[in-house]
Amino acid sequence: MPSKRACAAIGIDLGGTNLRGAVVENGKLVGEPVYVETPDHPEKIVDALVKLIEDLLDEAQTSGLQRDAICGVGIATAGVVNCDTGEVIGSTGNLPGWAGTKIREVVEARTGLSVHVENDANAAAYGEARVEELKNLHCIVVVTLGTGIGGGIVIDGKLLHGRGWAAGEIGHMSIALDDSRLCTCGLHNCWEAYGSGRGLLATARELLAEKNDEGQDSTLFEVGEAELTTYKVFQEAKAGDLLACAIVRRWHEHITTGIVNLTHILNPDCFVITGGLSQACDLALLKELTVEKALHNIGETVEIRASMLDTNAGLIGAAQSVIDEVGAGVPARR
Ligand SMILES: [Zn+2]
Repeated sequence: MPSKRACAAIGIDLGGTNLRGAVVENGKLVGEPVYVETPDHPEKIVDALVKLIEDLLDEAQTSGLQRDAICGVGIATAGVVNCDTGEVIGSTGNLPGWAGTKIREVVEARTGLSVHVENDANAAAYGEARVEELKNLHCIVVVTLGTGIGGGIVIDGKLLHGRGWAAGEIGHMSIALDDSRLCTCGLHNCWEAYGSGRGLLATARELLAEKNDEGQDSTLFEVGEAELTTYKVFQEAKAGDLLACAIVRRWHEHITTGIVNLTHILNPDCFVITGGLSQACDLALLKELTVEKALHNIGETVEIRASMLDTNAGLIGAAQSVIDEVGAGVPARR
C-alpha cells in the first residue's frame, strides 16, 4: 500500500510588481520566499514563471526535499481565472495583456508538473481557510482590506467559484444608492469605494469639507491634499484628533455594512480580515457594530478574526490547492 505522506508543492503569487514563490509543505513555507520582478509582457511573464519554478526545485533539492516529493505548482494570479482550464479569462488589473493566457497548459508543458491556477484573492482565502484552526468550519469569508477590497468564500473546504468563475467579488457589492462614490471597477456605490483605503480617504475628504464649514478644529486641515494618506489619518486618530477619530469610526461602519450583508446571506462561521489595512482595523469594534446591525443571533455567533498567514496567504493557498487535488486523486477544481 502506498504511503500517504503529505506532499509539498511550489506556490507562486503573481502580482503586478513581483512574482513571489516558495516551496510549501504542511501549510508552511520551506525557507524564505523568492522574489522576481514581474516582466512587462505576457510571454516574458511565463518565462519568468518557469525559471522561478526551476530555481525553487533546485533550492528544494539542496534543502533535502526530493523532486518527486513536489506534487505540483499552484499559481495565484490577478484576474478572473477558469480553474478547470487554468486560463485567465477576465480583467487583470495591472497585468496588461495577461487575459487569455493559458497558464496551466503552458507551464505544465514546460515543467512536467501538475499546475493549478487560481485568482489571487481566492487563493489567499483558500490558504487562510485551510489553516488548522479553521479547516473544519462550514463557511469562512476572507476579506482583504487594502487600496481596494478583495475576498473569497470557502464553504465546506471548497472555494465558491460561481458559474463564470467570478464569485467572491465581495468588494463590488453595492452598499449605497446615491452614486456619490465611483469605484475603480467603473460602477458606483461599491463596498470597496467606502471600506477600502481609497474609501477611507474619500470619507476623510467629505468630512473635512463638512466640518470645515462648521468651523471644527483638526490637525488634518493643515494637511495638503497630496499628503492626506490613510497612514496620516490613523496617526492623527491615535494622537486623539477628534475629526480623524470620526473618519476612522465611519470607515469601520462602512466595513461593517459589507460584513453584515455577507453575514445575512451566508451566516458564516467566521470572517478573516487580512490585507495591508487590516492592522489598522479594530476587530473588536467591527464585532460590536456587527452585533448591533445584524439580525439577532446571527451577528452574535459570527467570529471576526485576524489573518494568520498575512502576505503569504496567496502562495500558500495556491500551493495547498495542488496538494489537495493530488491528495484527492482527482482534479477537484470546482
Ligand atoms: Zn466596484
